[in-house]
Amino acid sequence: MRVVSLPTRLVEWRYQSDGVGKILKKLNVLVIGGGIGGLTAAIALGRDGHRVTVIEKDPTWTVYGVGIIQQANVVRAAKQLGILNDYMAAGFGFDAVEVYLPTGQCIAKIPTPRLVDGAPSNLGIGRPALHRVLGNRAKGAGADIRLGVTAEALNDDGQGVDARFSDGQSSRYDLVIGADGYNSQTRGMVFPEAPKPQFIGQAVWRYNFVKPPEVTCLRAYEGPIGYGLVPLSDSLMYMYVTTPEPGNPRYEKSELAAAMRSKLTVVPPDIAALREQITDNGGVVYRPLEWLFLDGPWHKGRVVLLGDAAHATTPHLGQGAGMAVEDSIVIAEELATKPSIEAALQGYQQRRFDRCKFIVDSSVAICRSQLGTGPRVEQAVATKAMFERIAQPL
Ligand SMILES: Cc1cc2nc3c(=O)[nH]c(=O)nc-3n(C[C@H](O)[C@H](O)[C@H](O)COP(=O)(O)OP(=O)(O)OC[C@H]3O[C@@H](n4cnc5c(N)ncnc54)[C@H](O)[C@@H]3O)c2cc1C
Repeated sequence: MRVVSLPTRLVEWRYQSDGVGKILKKLNVLVIGGGIGGLTAAIALGRDGHRVTVIEKDPTWTVYGVGIIQQANVVRAAKQLGILNDYMAAGFGFDAVEVYLPTGQCIAKIPTPRLVDGAPSNLGIGRPALHRVLGNRAKGAGADIRLGVTAEALNDDGQGVDARFSDGQSSRYDLVIGADGYNSQTRGMVFPEAPKPQFIGQAVWRYNFVKPPEVTCLRAYEGPIGYGLVPLSDSLMYMYVTTPEPGNPRYEKSELAAAMRSKLTVVPPDIAALREQITDNGGVVYRPLEWLFLDGPWHKGRVVLLGDAAHATTPHLGQGAGMAVEDSIVIAEELATKPSIEAALQGYQQRRFDRCKFIVDSSVAICRSQLGTGPRVEQAVATKAMFERIAQPL
């Protein structure tokens, strides 16, 4: 192998001469956003020896208290990131989805395929628990995490990016990753012309409960509104309820519990009993659903978008966070195998575009079908297609 130093603007890169070409330098990377995608990017890049700084807008770095479903591709990704044991220990694994009628009758128990030997195919995990695992592992991988900080300006001169922060500091980076969620400020800076997230007409209500022993996997209830139960640990589960919300109404915090209860009208006795426990306004997490997909480039120069910043989906296939986690792994792989940052970022988008578009399009189609604003989509058929797709390698 011959290593040459280039005397041009690529001076900071050295190439292998074996025809494959790799970036040999360890990079100084700024990750904007300490959420699921930002932290998994910090883990993946830190493990590869890159120096990672994460800036997070929220000075308290808290996430809301309900949970999230992670499916087999995310379990596989956790293994790839080297965090599988901590990750599995923080949640509740299961290998099936039970489907119920509004009468409470279970009509199907659908097995879900595993992608990692010895690990279940799904994990229900509390968002705070997931946040703890990812935050600890990102720090363990060497990330410097700075809270209560945003980037006020990013100046990319082709050889690096000068970032000016809200705390008055500034620094120079080889690469900036915008993982700052669906309302991404980074996206607004690099692609001011990009579309904004769109409200789709539906919202989700969520609430935590003590988990009874008989809830051992995801329970999805069919009917005029969609709702379900997701186990998060041996003692905790959450309920989600999706409702049409024409006009995107705002609910006062003081009325959230009563409003959530009022959505659960035609329900079987066990759900009605849970409904009566929804009394804490502070425990209700209400979220109008928005989506966005960037059809154009996901990077400009040395600034790239990841996760919801590039492709925010509705949660109908439970894959939004999964796509963010996979993005992180692919960015790290591309940086490890391509001859330049530009080639790596192009490779990242090429590998991610179709898969993320499939998830966003399918999720939006299910939602519109439920709302009666789009063609009919069988959720079971769409879910099966999703499992087949996400089982494919990254
Ligand atoms: C109701 C609902 C249910 C869902 N359920 C699931 C599910 O079951 N399974 C699943 O896989 N996905 C689910 N998702 C999707 C999932 O939550 C998102 O796709 C995922 O959180 C995206 O990760 P991210 O890192 O891109 O963004 P986020 O998790 O939103 O993280 C962004 C981070 O950036 C920070 N930030 C924002 N702006 C700035 C800034 N200017 N500077 C610095 N920091 C900033 C934020 O504070 C936050 O910490 C659901 C989504 C919704 C709405």
